[in-house]
Formats: sequence, C-alpha cells, structure tokens
Amino acid sequence: MNVMEIFETMEYGPAPEAAAPGLTWIQERSPFSLFINNQWIKPASGQYIDSINPATGKQLAKVAAANSADVDAAVAAARVAFETWGKTPGHIRARYMYAIARHIQKHSRLLAVLESLDNGKPIRETRDIDIPLVARHFYYHAGWAQLMESELPGYQPIGIVGQIIPWNFPLLMLAWKIAPALAMGNTVVLKPARYTSLTALKFAEIVQEIGLPPGVVNVLTGEASQVGEALVRHPDVNKIAFTGSTEVGRSIRRATAGSGKKLSLELGGKSPFIVFDDADLDSVVEGVVDAIWFNQGQVCCAGSRLLVQENIADRLIEKLRVRMEHLRIGDPLDKAVDIGAIVSPGQLKEIQRLVNQGVEEGAVMWQPSWVCPTEGYFFPPTLFTNVSPATTIAQVEIFGPVLVSMTFRTPAEAVELANNTRYGLAASVWSENINLALDVAPKLKAGTIWINCTNLFDATSGFGGYRESGFGREGGKEGLYEYVRPKWESYETLPEGLPIAIDSIASDGSKSSSSQDEEAEGAVRDRAFVSSNGYAQTLPAIDRTPKMFIGGKQVRPDGGYSRDVYDPHGHLIGQVGEGNRKDIRNAVEAAHKASGWAVGTTHNRAQILYYIAENLSVREDEFVRRIVQQTGCTYADAAAEVQASISRLFSYAAWTDKFEGVVHRPPLRGAVLAMPEAIGVIGIACPSEYPLLGFISLIAPAIAMGNTIVVIPSQQLPLSATDCYQVLETSDLPGGVVNIVTGERDMLSQVLAAHDDVDAMWYFGPAEGCKRVELASAGNMKRTCVNYGHLRNWMDVVQGESEEFLREATQVKNIWIPYGE
Ligand code: NDP
Repeated sequence: MNVMEIFETMEYGPAPEAAAPGLTWIQERSPFSLFINNQWIKPASGQYIDSINPATGKQLAKVAAANSADVDAAVAAARVAFETWGKTPGHIRARYMYAIARHIQKHSRLLAVLESLDNGKPIRETRDIDIPLVARHFYYHAGWAQLMESELPGYQPIGIVGQIIPWNFPLLMLAWKIAPALAMGNTVVLKPARYTSLTALKFAEIVQEIGLPPGVVNVLTGEASQVGEALVRHPDVNKIAFTGSTEVGRSIRRATAGSGKKLSLELGGKSPFIVFDDADLDSVVEGVVDAIWFNQGQVCCAGSRLLVQENIADRLIEKLRVRMEHLRIGDPLDKAVDIGAIVSPGQLKEIQRLVNQGVEEGAVMWQPSWVCPTEGYFFPPTLFTNVSPATTIAQVEIFGPVLVSMTFRTPAEAVELANNTRYGLAASVWSENINLALDVAPKLKAGTIWINCTNLFDATSGFGGYRESGFGREGGKEGLYEYVRPKWESYETLPEGLPIAIDSIASDGSKSSSSQDEEAEGAVRDRAFVSSNGYAQTLPAIDRTPKMFIGGKQVRPDGGYSRDVYDPHGHLIGQVGEGNRKDIRNAVEAAHKASGWAVGTTHNRAQILYYIAENLSVREDEFVRRIVQQTGCTYADAAAEVQASISRLFSYAAWTDKFEGVVHRPPLRGAVLAMPEAIGVIGIACPSEYPLLGFISLIAPAIAMGNTIVVIPSQQLPLSATDCYQVLETSDLPGGVVNIVTGERDMLSQVLAAHDDVDAMWYFGPAEGCKRVELASAGNMKRTCVNYGHLRNWMDVVQGESEEFLREATQVKNIWIPYGE
C-alpha cells in the first residue's frame, strides 16, 4: 500500500475532548441562579428550566426562569450602575474590558467545552472560531473605550441596554452585544436563548472575577415570554439589541414603536453563494462546507443558496457529493467531527418539515449514504438540485445543514437570482477574475460580501443586514453608533400648536418679540406689494398653483383636490395639491426609476448640490419673503434660514465625495472594504417648522449619498418646498431623484412607511406620528429615523447638519477580499 492509498482509505480514530471539566463546573453550580448586581439571585418565580445536551438529549443543568420582577430588579441595578459607569473615564472602562478579554482566554477551553455541550456544535468550531473571536471582540472594543472621548467627541452613552441573543453562537453573540455597549459606557441586561445559557453564566463569573462594578452586566436566563418581552417593554430600558428570527424582530419593532428606545436588529438570511465558471472548484467545495455545514447550517449568514454557472454545475455538484460523503457527523466533543447536533428537537423537526416540503415541491434531494447517530438530534448534510427560485426551500430560512442549488448563465442573471430574496445579510462570490467579483459585489443587496471566502468575521468589520435581515451593525466603528446618542440631544418635546415654531426658536435661540414681528411684517408687505409704477397694487396677482413634483415633472394631484395654506393671521396665501396614496405610489415608482443616481459619480452629485445652492441663492429674496409670509417671522430670521439652507447644501455637497468607507485590516491576508452605500428609496416627512431649512436639511444628505426620495414638505408651511421645484428643475437634477408630494403629513407618511418598495423612512413630527411610522415600518423592516416628538433646532449646525444624517442615508457593505497566491 502506498502513501496515496493509505491517505485515501485511512479512517479517523476518535479524538475526544474531555467533557469532565465542563460537567464538573456545571454540577457544582446547577441549579443556576440569576446574575443581578454581581450577585447570584434565586428567581422570583422559584422556577427553573432544563438545559439539554443536544448530542445526547439528556439534561445538562437547570437554569433559573426569570420573570418580570427579576427584569425590574436587573434594570434597576443597571440604572444605578449607569450613574457611575456612564461617567467612568474611557481608560478605566478599557482596563476592565481588557481584563474580560484576558479572562476569556484564560478560561478558553472550559468555555469551548461548555459551548459544545450546551449547543451541540463541534469543539473544533468553539475552540478555534467562537471563543477566539469572543476574546478578540473584547480586546478590540477595549480600544474603543480608550478612544471614545477623542474619536466620538459629540456622543454620550445611551443608558440601559436590553440585549436578547439567540442560541446559534451563544457566547459570540453575547460578545458582539456586550463589548460595544460597555465600551461606550452603557450598562446591560442580557437575556441568553433558553437552550443555551451556560456560557453566558460562565461569562457572569468572569465579570465577578475581574471586579466589574456591580450592575454593569446582568444576566437573566429564562423564557422569551417572561424575560424577553418584559425587557423589550420595560420603560427604563433605553435600547434593545436583538439577534434572532425575522418574525420576533418584527414583533420587537412593533412593541418598541414610539417608545423612543433605540433598536438594532440582526435577523435572518438566505444568503447566496455564487460560483462563476472560472472559480477554483476545489476551493469552492471547501467554501460550501464552511458556508452551509459550519455550525450545522444554523448560521444567520449561512450560504444556503448555491448559485452555479450552468456550464460547471454538474461538475461542481458531483465534487460536492463526494465531499459530503466524507463529512463526519457525531459527538461534538470529538475533534475530528465536522457536523455536530441540531440545537433542539423542535428545530430538528422544523428542518425535516422544510426538507419534506422541498421534495413535495419537486426538487431533487441528495444525502450521503452514511447514517446519523440515533441518540441526540442530528440531521445529515442535504443537497437539493432542480430547485425553482420561487419554491419554499429557495426562499425560507431553513436554519439547518440544507443547501439548495440553482443555475445561472450570465453575471446579470446571477445578480438577479441572488437578490431574489427578502433578506440581505451576506453573499459569497467565487471567481478567479477579480474584476468580475468586484463588479458583482456592489450589485448584491447584502451587508457583507465575501470574495472567494465565506463566513469570515472580525471585530474590525461591521456585520448586519439590508432589507428584512434587519438594521444596525455590530463590529467596526459603525457598530459603536448603535450604543451612543448625540450629547446635545434633549428630550424636550415639541410644543403643541406648531407650525409656527420658528416664532419660538429664532436663529439665536431667542423668542422674537411681537413688535419685531410687526416691523418685519410691514417691511415685507412693502417689499412684496409696492412696485415702482404703482400698478401692482391694483392688478390681480397671477395665480400660482404648486402641483406635485414627481419624476421631474410638475403633475396635478391624483385626487383633484387642493389644500389651503394660511399665514399666521389666518389669511389664505396659496393652495397646494392634496396628495393621496396614488400620488405616493407614483412618486415611489419614479424614485425607483431614478435609481441610477446611486451609481453616478460622487463628483457629479456634489456638483448638482452646489448648483441647487447657486440657484437658491439667485432667488434668495423670493424665498425670504415666502418664509416671512408663511411664518410671520422677522425678515432677518427668514434671511438667516435661507442662508443656512444654502450653507447646508454646500456642506452636503462637500460631504458627497468625502463620506467614504475604510479599509479594515482583520487578522487575515487580505483586506475588507467597508463601503457606505445608498439605502435606496427613502421616504421623508419634513418638520412643521423651518419650511425651507427643514426641507433642505433632510433632502440634501439623502440625495448626496445617492438615495432617491419621496418628500412630504411641512404640512402647514409647504410653499417653500413647492417653490423649490423650479430650483431643482434648473439644477440638472435628474427627474425622479427628488419627488415631492404635498398634503396631510401623517396620512402620507403612513402610506410611505407601509410601502414595501420604500427602504427607509424619516419622520420629524409629533410623538404619536413617530410611533405610527415605526409600527408601519415593521412590514418590510425598513430603517426608520424619527425624532420622537423631540425638539431639534435646525438652525444649529450640530443638531441640523450632523454626520448622523449621512449615516442614516447609508448602509455599510463590508467586502472581504483575501489575496495572495
Ligand atoms: P427567536 O428569534 O425566537 O429567538 C431569539 C432570541 O429571542 C431568544 O433569546 C428568544 O428567547 C428571544 N425571544 C423570542 N421571542 C421573543 C419575544 N417575543 N420578545 C423578546 N425576546 C424573544 O429564534 P428561535 O430560537 O425560536 O429560532 C427560530 C428561527 O429563527 C430559526 O429557525 C432561525 O430561522 C431563526 N434564527 C435566526 C438567528 C439569527 O442569527 N439570525 C438565530 C436564531 C434563530 P427564547 O430562547 O427563550 O425563546
């Protein structure tokens, strides 16, 4: 027998990792208590739930089942701790976080064993991937704690963060959530998944060990209905960070709507794995193994849809079958095992149900010839061919070791198939032609793109989704913004009875006196109505009827109704179209047609913004008079508003080619390009106040970043926005980039927020309206940016023109590019 023959026929012997240290640790502590204020507290309910080893189906431990009384206690502890922790200098927070990272490394093997016992994932993965990434995450974020003051100078922590994590990467998801929260000075109440609490409890011990101040981290085990929901609804929680299913994410969006709680959601996926015919097929096969059989396919970004160029499909499928035949399934603590156990019997049943459905729908199923262990919850690697893109198994997240494959002919077809999903978490692209790969990457609607690699993660590089895969990023600098709020942000609520807020907030923040108003009114009347030959006073004015502005054209409102516009004294000063659902639908369609705006050059977009500013400046006087006419403010204040609008256009023109991405350097040979991309179509409801500046401050950052928009101007003071039609028409702005629908703000906002083809919704109005927008947005999980009815001084540069709007107008795509021969 030669070496080659030995290599091919050689069998693996068992290579078991000792379970004893993990089991002893469990036995010494079970039943586990709750971790509140650095103390182990028995649950108020006196109840415990079982934690099961999925590889055996046997009980591992009993963990406390918290209820809402425990949630109250933990939130109260976190609130007290926040008073100090939120003011603790960054360097001190960094030292604590550094100590956490060190202690994770010191206990790394125990953590890996516990994770494998509790979740069923192979020790090879927990030891080599999960736990090292956990330590890395704390080291990386210790650095951000140290640098927060200099690198995020205008920001403060949010407060108490409720964090809800799933069972597929129990400790890693804990790290993704807790590390940035602590780095930015927040305190935390964490709810692990009910199936997998053990490593979170070991983490709590580490928190005690390193002497983190009491209450900074609290861990509540238990059921979703008792702990998760209570945390989501708790009035003293300032933010919810959630990872899990899209359905639960949607219910959390609805439950938090209007509460003012900040929210980040990392949800499901159905990620494409695209193979072009020039790819290195042996690497592709290993890539597929990592994409869909890593962690038994229970990975939100699993490459679960294999899209193969038609001419190599048979060859690749054949190679895959050979490889699948050699995959080893079994005891997760065996170091030579590739595939471990599925987390629970319920999850196993669900996988089986979807596989059966795939067969019923006519796809061809293939599984290796070997059989799975009969004890525990195992499912074999499964490959479907002959899959039609519209079938359930091609669309639904199976969350198991099940791969569906489809073919394409051209790169354009590959992109279309890849984007044919409601999700947008990740994608892999395989080709030896880097030009092709880099051409395809920006066209894929997903938060992470891996080129010739898959399932790579690092703390430097933000992770998160597009579309129904959620919003917000974890990791990277962008992830930090999920855990801070601007220092200026006040919780003062907008006064009732707007629109005339400009009355109460003059440019210098002072209230205009009534004598000033009268003086201004007189001056404006003179300028507006007295002409040199004296005729103007006697001639009737030429009627001006602002219509809608859709697709670059002025169009009549679909309903054929108009809305009266009054000055502050109740005099009729004009009429605008009364927009309805149809107008919004037409505007959204026009905005989609203009999507080419996003791929144009940034230089060109900047030029157009400057041009809009130039044309506004030419008509400055007219815009000033219009503001005075609508609001009754002083001429000086109106002039200041127009000047601020012009300056704002200049600012966002300047940012257009400067709000750029970064190149991350994770520990791999290669680079990760983090590119901010336009979100798509954004709906914008303008504030009632500042009729011109409120409008310009919102449309400028949105279009600067390449979005196309549907704007609802101030309901009471719409004429400054409708006067802008001619400015936009004469500034080379392509039709459809900005669409303006006048009318009832809240009704029109609802239509936009519920529209499935709108990707984000911004709303600046009363708290009740914000709540309705957030509720309606849950339909397609669109991103929202609302003011919760709080006051914002648009004249102030920090409040009215911050980078915040650029971040709201973009989503970061991370493109991983390993290199080297
Ligand atoms: P869930 O989304 O139900 O659970 C995730 C976390 O949220 C758990 O901690 C869970 O608690 C908690 N939770 C559940 N319901 C609520 C609620 N109403 N309010 C607050 N918290 C809640 O995922 P499942 O575990 O049920 O898995 C179901 C499917 O979700 C999977 O098949 C998969 O498709 C997808 N999934 C996606 C993940 C991802 O990373 N994107 C991760 C996990 C699952 P508890 O454990 O007590 O139920």
